[in-house]
Amino acid sequence: MRRFDLHTHSLQSDGTLTPAELVTRARAAGVDVLALTDHDVTDGIAEARITADRVGITLIAGVEISVTWQSQTVHIVGLNIDTADHVLQQGLARLREFRQWRAVEIGRRLQKKRIEGAYEGARRLAKGTIVSRTHFARFLVEQGYVRGMQQAFKQFLSSGKPGHVPGQWATLDEAVSWIRSAGGQAVVAHPARYKLSAGKLLRLFGEFRECGGAAIEVISGSHPPEATQHLARIAAEQDFLASAGSDYHGPEKTWMDLGRLPALPDGCVPVWRNWEMTGLATHEVVAESLS
Ligand code: AMP
Ligand code: MN
Ligand code: MN
Ligand code: MN
Repeated sequence: MRRFDLHTHSLQSDGTLTPAELVTRARAAGVDVLALTDHDVTDGIAEARITADRVGITLIAGVEISVTWQSQTVHIVGLNIDTADHVLQQGLARLREFRQWRAVEIGRRLQKKRIEGAYEGARRLAKGTIVSRTHFARFLVEQGYVRGMQQAFKQFLSSGKPGHVPGQWATLDEAVSWIRSAGGQAVVAHPARYKLSAGKLLRLFGEFRECGGAAIEVISGSHPPEATQHLARIAAEQDFLASAGSDYHGPEKTWMDLGRLPALPDGCVPVWRNWEMTGLATHEVVAESLS
C-alpha cells in the first residue's frame, strides 16, 4: 500500500525545511505520495518537484488557504492544483498582501506591550515571502519573552491576546473556487482543531459542500487521535472524500514526524481514489513520455 501525506509545510511558509529537504526527508520516512501545502503560497512547489523526481516520490502540488468563516479562521487545503492558474494566484496574492499588512500591525501591537522589533525579528526568521504568526512566536521564544511556542500563542498571538489581529482572509466560497479554478480538490484542513460547536462544524461542512468542496481531513497530525473515528463517520454520512496529512512543519518536536500517519479507517473513500485517472496520471504519463 502506498503511503500518503497530503499536508506539509516548507520554509516558503512557516515550516523550517527547504522544499528539497522536506521531500528528501519524506522519502526517507517511507512516504510515497507527498503534498506540499504551504500557507497562501505555492513558491516551494517547483523546487519540491525537482527533488521528488530525483528521489522517486510522487509530489502533489498543494496549498493551504486561510479563510475567514463566521469570524473564525479556517484552513482549506487545495490538492492537485495547477500552480500557474491566474485566478488562484491572484487570490493568494491578495491574502499575502493582507498578511504583510497584518505582520506590521502585529509588530505595532506588540510594541505597545514593550516588545521592540517584533516585525523585523519575524521578518528575519521568515525565509520565504510570507510572515506568519509562527515567525512571531519563534521571535518571542528567541528573545526570551516566552518559554515556548505554545506560550507565545497563548500569551500574545491567539484570539483576544495583545498581538492578535483579526483575520480578513478569503471567504469559504472564494477559497474553494480558486482551488477549483486551478483544477484542484478542496479539503477542510484539521476540522477538529477549530473552536466550533458540533452544530457549527456541520454548518461549515454544509456550506463547504455547496461551494464545491470535495474532502475533509479525517486524519491530521494536528488532531487528537480520538477525532479520527468521529470525522470518518461524518465523511461517510455526508459523502465527503477523506484526506490524511501530518501538517508537518519541521523536525522540531512540536510537530508530528513524517511517515507516521495511520491508515484511513474502513468506510472512508480516499481523496486520492481517482488520481490515477486525473492529475497524478497526467504527470506520470508526461514523465514517461519525456524519458
Ligand atoms: P497565521 O496563518 O500566520 O495566522 O499562522 C497560523 C499558524 O500558526 C498555524 O498554521 C500553525 O502553524 C501555527 N500555530 C497556531 N497555533 C499554534 C499553537 N498554539 N502552537 C504552535 N503553533 C501554532
Ligand atoms: Mn502553519
Ligand atoms: Mn492549518
Ligand atoms: Mn498546515
